[in-house]
Amino acid sequence: MKPCDFDVVVIGTGMGGATAGALIAREGFRVLLLEKNPRVGGACSFYNRQGAHVDTGAHMFSRGSRGPIGEVLSRLGAAGRVRFLRRAPMMRIRGPTFDFVGNYQGWTMPLLGLTALRQFRFQARELLPMAKRMTEPFWSGGQSIHGLYPERMEEKVLEATRNPSFFLFSSVMMCLCFVIPQRDASVGEALWCVKKAFQARDFGYPQGGAVAVPRAFLEGAEGRGARVVVNARVSRIRVGEGRVEGVETTDGDFYSTRAVVSTTSLRDTIELVGREHFPAEYVEHVNAVRGSLGAVQAKILLDKPVIREGVLVGIRDKRKDPTRPLSIEDVQNMWRDVEEGRVPEILCFYCPVPSNFDSSLAPPGKQLLTLTSACAVAGKEGADPQDQWIDAMVEAFFDIYPEARSRVVWIDRFQNRFLEQWLGKTGGPVISTAQDTSQVGPRRHPNVTPLQGLFVAGDCAGAAGIGTELACQSGIDCADLVVRALYNRIL
Ligand SMILES: Cc1cc2nc3c(=O)[nH]c(=O)nc-3n(C[C@H](O)[C@H](O)[C@H](O)COP(=O)(O)OP(=O)(O)OC[C@H]3O[C@@H](n4cnc5c(N)ncnc54)[C@H](O)[C@@H]3O)c2cc1C
Repeated sequence: MKPCDFDVVVIGTGMGGATAGALIAREGFRVLLLEKNPRVGGACSFYNRQGAHVDTGAHMFSRGSRGPIGEVLSRLGAAGRVRFLRRAPMMRIRGPTFDFVGNYQGWTMPLLGLTALRQFRFQARELLPMAKRMTEPFWSGGQSIHGLYPERMEEKVLEATRNPSFFLFSSVMMCLCFVIPQRDASVGEALWCVKKAFQARDFGYPQGGAVAVPRAFLEGAEGRGARVVVNARVSRIRVGEGRVEGVETTDGDFYSTRAVVSTTSLRDTIELVGREHFPAEYVEHVNAVRGSLGAVQAKILLDKPVIREGVLVGIRDKRKDPTRPLSIEDVQNMWRDVEEGRVPEILCFYCPVPSNFDSSLAPPGKQLLTLTSACAVAGKEGADPQDQWIDAMVEAFFDIYPEARSRVVWIDRFQNRFLEQWLGKTGGPVISTAQDTSQVGPRRHPNVTPLQGLFVAGDCAGAAGIGTELACQSGIDCADLVVRALYNRIL
């Protein structure tokens, strides 16, 4: 075996890369993490503006310290290193015909359920069969969830009810979890995520901002001898004799290694290696992989706190004739518009309020909002200009929360192009391998590739879960595979 500079090189320091790098280093292997950006964290990174610590994305963590993040911290001997904070009231969801506030405490759930059902104006006779149909797989064992991976959420909801308000609500929830239209979302994946979130009951926001999580992992990695280098863009994964030999950076550095863990998208990983090194069917398969929708964002600083909740979800109805009752078709058209790049008449947004969890993230007395809305990926032909999306999203927010309009200190606007460049994933999808029915469960792309020594981790491959936790679990699974292969001298 040739001597190498590192046992493993990890490309990227987001949730997937930080997890994999830390857990491999923990086993005593020599790990190098290369990050093209000036700051670590990928989608969970941040920037500073006039005393505010602003998340690059817009994050909440569905299972806090009780999911894969907690597992990584405890494997690193750093349990409790990241504190997940809660807020009362936790969440407010306002739509055209509903407005309800969710609190963290479990005992409020039945009450919330009843309020929601009343606001959706369900007929009494609809309730029991619907509740039974929707919750059946939820309470049954994992085996039955497994069988539901190929089933589409939209069909499941329509089998249970044709209530347009509920249909709108469930489609927005699917988008919050997976950033894809409900039509494509998998029943099995959705139920798995909801079940895990209910079991964990640790929905929260990390003290210090989203970056606190990958940062804690990277500190764990460095504490075990790993090297983390920022401003280091990998330009090529070099291959020789049918296996990975090392990576080259745009600065002209070369690092030899036994294994590479790439956390950019599958397609971008293949480009870094060169298509010619893979079987043609594999290249074809990866080219057919679908990413999720992208996101436009606005970071808003208010001169005083006007929002009470920890996170807001809003849906604004700007149909030409708002007196016409909402229909199932209106909701389906809304998502079709989003996919095709047209600003929809019914627009939804998601807005964590980081300073409501950790007041140190905004200057004293101010409030920081991280507003985002799903949109078509960057480069979509014929799409409305992204500035138009951002305007529509910000207007929708101020329509629903008019008290915030006059309190604005500044707004930073981000097109989806920004995500594309920051994450290094072509098109800038929020989840690089979308969790649609054909890409979850047994059909999810694995952490291994046909090329010896090349692994993929993060939200592009493996695991189940919501965003950050999907990427983290994928990093855990990938690290376990790489460590086993290194111990067994397969690499
Ligand atoms: C706006 C927005 C809102 C979100 N909201 C939530 C939420 O509320 N809850 C939730 O759980 N998840 C949410 N997510 C999703 C979640 O952030 C991601 O799924 C997860 O963080 C992805 O982690 P990752 O490690 O797979 O990829 P990334 O975080 O994208 O990390 C990839 C890293 O690789 C680096 N890289 C790429 N190419 C190269 C190269 N050639 N050389 C060197 N480095 C390279 C990138 O710079 C980046 O740092 C959101 C995402 C966005 C964008």
